[in-house]
Amino acid sequence: MPNIQKNISLKHLNTFHVEAYAQYFVSVRTNEELSSVLKDSTLKKLPKFILGGGSNVLFTKDFKGLIIKISNQGIKLVKETHEHVWLLAAAGENWTTFVHDCIQHQYAGVENLFLIPGSLGAAIVQNAGAYGMETADTVQCVETINRYTGDIKRFLAEECQFSYRSSRFKTKKNPFIITHAVFKLSKKPCFRLDYEPLRQSIPKSDLTLQKIADTIVSIRQSKLPDYRKYPNAGSFFKNPVISVDQFAQLAQSYQHIPHWSYNSGVKIAAAWLIEQCGFKGKRFGNVGVYHKHALVLVNYGHANGKEIKALADHIVQKVIEKFNILLVSEVMIL
Ligand SMILES: Cc1cc2nc3c(=O)[nH]c(=O)nc-3n(C[C@H](O)[C@H](O)[C@H](O)COP(=O)(O)OP(=O)(O)OC[C@H]3O[C@@H](n4cnc5c(N)ncnc54)[C@H](O)[C@@H]3O)c2cc1C
Repeated sequence: MPNIQKNISLKHLNTFHVEAYAQYFVSVRTNEELSSVLKDSTLKKLPKFILGGGSNVLFTKDFKGLIIKISNQGIKLVKETHEHVWLLAAAGENWTTFVHDCIQHQYAGVENLFLIPGSLGAAIVQNAGAYGMETADTVQCVETINRYTGDIKRFLAEECQFSYRSSRFKTKKNPFIITHAVFKLSKKPCFRLDYEPLRQSIPKSDLTLQKIADTIVSIRQSKLPDYRKYPNAGSFFKNPVISVDQFAQLAQSYQHIPHWSYNSGVKIAAAWLIEQCGFKGKRFGNVGVYHKHALVLVNYGHANGKEIKALADHIVQKVIEKFNILLVSEVMIL
């Protein structure tokens, strides 16, 4: 049984760097350790929260229960053909380290997702995405342990219900803890350049996975605050999807509204909505909206989770009043 710690500060385990205490905390490095924690008769009764890198959570209060940090490690080549490799990776791996390893080996398929903070497991939960690519594009299957029964279950990609920044593992009642996943990557050069600034930054003759990663680094660094300096959780809200009719009405008043077709509706840039409400670059005491990106809420001082949540609620209210559009948070609020 791994060491169960009591009354642990979560301040350095979340990228908002807000103070909150976990009643119990455990870091698990193997399936066996996770199983022993789940089977323990005393721990069984406690509410549980699974934590990766804490870059997509906001703690607004202490957690009365057990926080289980997934810390297993390992990346293994499990199959190889002329064109592809299949890598089995542990959920506790750092996502950026995994992407970096893929780039070093010239395996294509995740390079646009370089520098997304957090763990590999949560990148799947969240279907993390950036610059025209999503985690779901390369996931082949996901291995899980059921937090109630301890059963091991494998999901093929098509069973994971991946959608925009979501999957079956993100729902409130999800019982499955991701322990490993298999990714299928291409050994042949193939690049995803749907995102225009990326396409424009690299001449076609000069395209390599490393060049893409380097360009992604400079795009991200020019737009997003470093959470070690300005604690944040990336995009706080999802881009809302509205109906074609609602969009047509909106476009009569706002011709330049950034939008994309999405399934049978229209996806609107949440950053634009927030900016139109005058929040970009505004500070409210310890918290604020980043001056280069209106989707990013920043802890500028020693804000607590409630202050950040209050700013998020204020933004949601103003966007509803102005546009009649409900912003939904991408960040898990606890
Ligand atoms: C500066 C910055 C930039 C960012 N940029 C992006 C971006 O470009 N694209 C993007 O998509 N996101 C982005 N994010 C958000 C965040 O990095 C991603 O959502 C990331 O995948 C979260 O990983 P994590 O390990 O930190 O998750 P955590 O915050 O620890 O957890 C997130 C959720 O996943 C659950 N979870 C974690 N691990 C497991 C597991 N093994 N099994 C089951 N459930 C689990 C948790 O319970 C929680 O509900 C950014 C964040 C920051 C701070």
